Amino acid sequence: MDFKFTPEEEAFRKEVSDFLDKEGPQEWQKRKVSFFDMSGQENWIAIHRDMAQKLGARGWLSLHWPREYGGQGLSPFYRLILREELAKHHCPGYHSLSVDFVAPAILLKGSDALKKRYLPGIASGKVMWCEGLSEPGHGSDLASLETFAGEEDDCFVANGQKIWTTYAHFADWIFLLARTDRQAQPNYRGLTFFLVDMRTPGITVNPIINMAGHHDFNEVFFDDVRIPKENIVDGVNRGWYVAMALLDYERTSDLGYAIAGTLLNDIVEYARELDILDAENKRRMAELVAECEVARLTHYHVTWMQSQGKVLNYEAAMCKLLGFESIQHVAEFGMQVFKHYGLLSDTSSLAPLYGRISSCYLRSFGHSMEAGTSEIDRDVIAQRGLGLPRLR
Ligand SMILES: Cc1cc2nc3c(=O)[nH]c(=O)nc-3n(C[C@H](O)[C@H](O)[C@H](O)COP(=O)(O)OP(=O)(O)OC[C@H]3O[C@@H](n4cnc5c(N)ncnc54)[C@H](O)[C@@H]3O)c2cc1C
Repeated sequence: MDFKFTPEEEAFRKEVSDFLDKEGPQEWQKRKVSFFDMSGQENWIAIHRDMAQKLGARGWLSLHWPREYGGQGLSPFYRLILREELAKHHCPGYHSLSVDFVAPAILLKGSDALKKRYLPGIASGKVMWCEGLSEPGHGSDLASLETFAGEEDDCFVANGQKIWTTYAHFADWIFLLARTDRQAQPNYRGLTFFLVDMRTPGITVNPIINMAGHHDFNEVFFDDVRIPKENIVDGVNRGWYVAMALLDYERTSDLGYAIAGTLLNDIVEYARELDILDAENKRRMAELVAECEVARLTHYHVTWMQSQGKVLNYEAAMCKLLGFESIQHVAEFGMQVFKHYGLLSDTSSLAPLYGRISSCYLRSFGHSMEAGTSEIDRDVIAQRGLGLPRLR
C-alpha cells in the first residue's frame, strides 16, 4: 500500500502552506507555539478567533462536509492536510470542539433544521463550542452521569454540574449530555444530547487552572437552565448514541503525531547545533521517529476509512492513544537531551525551544485523559479489536 497524495491534494497543501506563511501569527511561528500551548500565549483567544475566521472565509473549516450544508464535498484527507500544515506552521484557528466534535455529530445524527441552523456558524469560524460531557465522579463511566433535564411544556430544564469543560469561558454554545430518564436500564438509555446557548440564564462558568498554569478548562453549573425542545439531537433518550459517534470523531481529531513529529525535529535540530546528542539519545531518537511514523500511518488509515464512509471502531482509540502518547514520549526525550534546561518554562531565556518541551510535557498528562483515558483506549482496543473481556 502506498499512501500518496493526489496532485490536487499536493496543490492544496502548497496553497495552505503559502497562506499560513503569510497570514499566520508571525510571533507564534517564530516561537513555534504548538496547538496545545495556545492558551499560554498573550492575547491568544483574539488571535485564535481571528485565524478561525480567516480559515472559515476560505471554506477550510468545512472541507469534507456535503455541499448542501455549506461544505466543499472533498475527501477527509483535505482536512488532514490542513491540520498537518497548521501544526507545521504553529498556527491556531482550528477549533476542534466545533469543527471536529459537534459538527460531525450534527451532520450524522441531527435533523435537517439543526444542520441548517448550526453548521454555518461553525464553518465560518465565528461560533465556538464547548463540550459538556464529564461530571465529578462520572468521567470514564460517562453513562452514570447525573445532570438532569426534566420536561416542561415546550422545553427541558437542566440542573447539575459539568467539569473539565475546555474553553467554556469563551464558548458561544455547549453540547450537553444530560439524564432525561432516571429509571432507564441500562442507564445509558436515559440520556439526551442538547445544544445549549451559553448565554442562557442559569449557566455559571468557574475556572480551573491546569498544571502548566494555563486556564483551559472549567466547571460549568446548570441551575434551572431552560433548553428548547428543538435543540435536541436525535431525539429524547438517544443521547448516548450521539455522544459515542462524537467521541469517535474526537479521538481522531487532533493529529498528535504532527505535534510530536514537529517537536522531535526541533529537538534534534537544536541538539545537533549544540552537539549534545550522545549514543543513548540517538537510540531513543530512532525509536521515537518510528513511533511517530506508526501514529501517522494509523491516522492515515483511519482517514481513509472515513473517506470510504466506513464506521470507526477500535481504530479511533488506536489513533488517539498512539498520537497523544507520542507527544508525551517526545517531550520526555527533550528533557533527557537538554537535562535540567528542558524543565524551564518560557519565562526563562535559558529554556530550549522557548520552553516548549516543558509545556508539552506538562500538557501531555491531560492528553492521556481527555476524550477517554489511555486505559480506556487500551480497553476498547482489547475488547472491540481483540474480542477480550472488559478490564473491570
Ligand atoms: C485536558 C483535558 C480536557 C478535557 N476536556 C473536557 C471537555 O471539554 N469536556 C468534557 O466533558 N470533559 C473533558 N475532559 C474530561 C475527560 O473526558 C475525563 O477526564 C476522562 O473521561 C476521565 O474521567 P475522570 O477524569 O473522571 O477519571 P476517572 O474516570 O475517575 O478515571 C480515573 C482513573 O481510573 C482509570 N479507569 C477508570 N475506569 C476504568 C476502567 N473501566 N478500566 C481501566 N481503568 C479505568 C482511568 O483510566 C484513570 O486513570 C477533559 C480532560 C482533560 C484532561
